[in-house]
Amino acid sequence: MSESFEALVVASYGRHLQVRDAAGQRHNARPFGRKISLVCGDRVRCERNAQNQELHVVATLPRRNALLRSNARGGAEAVVANISLLVIVLAPRPAPDPFMVDRYLAAAASGNIEALLLVNKIDLGIEPELDRELATWERLGYGVQRCAAREARGIAEFAQRLRGHTAVVVGQSGVGKSSLLGQLVPLASIETGELVREEEGRHTTTASQLYELPLGGELIDSPGVRDFAPAITALEPRSLGFIEVDRAGVNCKFQDCRHMQEPHCSVRAALEAGGIDPRRYESYRRLRRLFEDLTDAQRPG
Ligand code: GDP
Repeated sequence: MSESFEALVVASYGRHLQVRDAAGQRHNARPFGRKISLVCGDRVRCERNAQNQELHVVATLPRRNALLRSNARGGAEAVVANISLLVIVLAPRPAPDPFMVDRYLAAAASGNIEALLLVNKIDLGIEPELDRELATWERLGYGVQRCAAREARGIAEFAQRLRGHTAVVVGQSGVGKSSLLGQLVPLASIETGELVREEEGRHTTTASQLYELPLGGELIDSPGVRDFAPAITALEPRSLGFIEVDRAGVNCKFQDCRHMQEPHCSVRAALEAGGIDPRRYESYRRLRRLFEDLTDAQRPG
């Protein structure tokens, strides 16, 4: 019988994988068969071929969650799996897009993933408008941390927050995600990740790598993960992952209320009473319209 064990996918470059076994040892592996689709963070079953000693991933274990992006066919495909914390990085410059932040928060809530807002470049000062947005997210219960990667300010606190988590750092280009990674992960391990990538001889947007952090915790990173747009069709259908809509929506008259124009909608009542932030509701409406357009387009006939 060939050797068989469970492992964690810690790097994926197309069909070239690295898995980590229970003892913490890393092995190169390949998926067995075309049907197995894998991403970093997947738990898998591996088998070693007795003849050529190659390690094959023969099955993916059920995912606790996954971050999904839309693929070319309008469906959703996993970017990373089994994460516990989504870190959304924003900065005074480039100017934050609150709608995009809400879309990440919605994806996190829909996947049962904790979210953290990390404000980088605080050395540039925070405009009152951004402060107001941050206060709104904080009131909803989202954690907010502040840092300046360039000056290594707030990095120790951020590293503490990552302990015990498998985290992914996302946010628009230029907010400082690579600089943050550089502060958290020893340069040597980033370079090792790059080496594996070169061996494969090509770059793919799905390539990703799991880094073990010095203080504990893990961070999954890749250029394709850093600013991916979460799949809208994968959002939780009732509230789209807006926690205040979820809370207020329990009192709507209609079970299938979309909280748009339906009568006796407790979400709109909360909005009018000032219990729901109008800017957040506008994000919700925008996502709801996109959600309906996309799910209508996918329906057969
Ligand atoms: P990414 O695209 O999100 O990975 O962002 P980068 O890490 O490449 O950073 C984009 C730019 O912002 C670079 O010029 C960094 O030097 C700069 N930057 C990163 N962190 C800070 C910071 O804390 N303060 C300031 N002022 N600039 C920063």
